Amino acid sequence: MKVPLLDLRAQYQPIRAEVMAAIEAVCDEQGFILGPRVVELEQALARYIGASHAVGVASGSDALLLSLMALGVGPGDEVITVPFTFFATVGSISRLGAKPVFVDIRPETFNMDPSQIEGKVTARTKAILPVHLYGQCAEMEAIREIAKRRGIRVIEDACQAIGASRNGVQAGALGDLGCFSFFPSKNLGGFGDGGLVTTNESRLSDTVAVLRVHGSRVRYVHELVGMNSRLDALQAAILRVKLNHLDQWSEGRRRNAVRYEQLFRETKLLERVTLPRTDGGNRHVFNQFTIRAQKRDELRAYLKDKGVGTEVYYPVPLHLQSCYQELGYRKGAFPASERAAEEALSLPIYAELTDDHLSYVVKTTASFYSRH
Ligand SMILES: *Cc1c(COP(=O)(O)O)cnc(C)c1O
Repeated sequence: MKVPLLDLRAQYQPIRAEVMAAIEAVCDEQGFILGPRVVELEQALARYIGASHAVGVASGSDALLLSLMALGVGPGDEVITVPFTFFATVGSISRLGAKPVFVDIRPETFNMDPSQIEGKVTARTKAILPVHLYGQCAEMEAIREIAKRRGIRVIEDACQAIGASRNGVQAGALGDLGCFSFFPSKNLGGFGDGGLVTTNESRLSDTVAVLRVHGSRVRYVHELVGMNSRLDALQAAILRVKLNHLDQWSEGRRRNAVRYEQLFRETKLLERVTLPRTDGGNRHVFNQFTIRAQKRDELRAYLKDKGVGTEVYYPVPLHLQSCYQELGYRKGAFPASERAAEEALSLPIYAELTDDHLSYVVKTTASFYSRH
């Protein structure tokens, strides 16, 4: 049996006609950059997420960059974030000449540990940038409370968490600005790159919208130094179709997570493997189903050999990347992040998996541990 980590064709097959009709309509219109299709998607996503404003941009990485730019983050500023995330979270900070300041994660959820933030806040701290890793929201009440008290802003990296919520509020409506990615492997994936910024502040959404077109509101008149980071009409049309199916896909992922838990329990694997934990109040949308595994790399190679696709998100914490040597962090600085990098393993979780697939993944994992 073959169980890939993700099978986008299985998702596409049943919606092929709908998607093709949307693509054809854009081709007939021959309007490709921003325009009414993008506006329609922005409005639908703002409604879905429960934020007042949504601005379509070229990628999740740009959503982060533009959000930081809208807050005026620049050289000399500090932004508090985590070292256990995708590179773009931290890269966006340094690209603006600001300094990423790390706090460690909670081992149980892989998300920012709010108890470590206060000690890192300085007069230069402009923002806190928590990540809703794997599809589960960070502890936003605690993070917001510190931010409010210290007069700093909160940007959510919600790139893996569209549709996730915490105490009934959705990712992207929990901070001052929310950043989303439509990279094909995300829960709402386009046919290429794309991203979105959400906010409840019209001033911030207006600034992001101006920054994404070279800081220009009136053509060839530039009030800010912005960039080209536009969402295109084809992506918007495809994403608008896919948005209608998003909740059903997320439910499928959640169902699979529950089934994995049953299967892992039945095979008595819980001494070798730690399953993902959902924090109270969170609706987890499982962009990834990430376990901690003993002998992770050997297990991964074994699963690959038996036809099961897995991935390590992420094998090298960012404070130990060679491009961040200048920050002066050593091994041991963030033990929970370093340990997660050694133990985390993401298993196939996409909605179209069958019970046979899930059983096979767990059975194969069990057969590895019976030999090791
Ligand atoms: C995917 C992702 C991004 C970047 O999104 P792109 O659209 O690929 O630029 C940023 N942060 C996290 C946590 C992500 O998973």
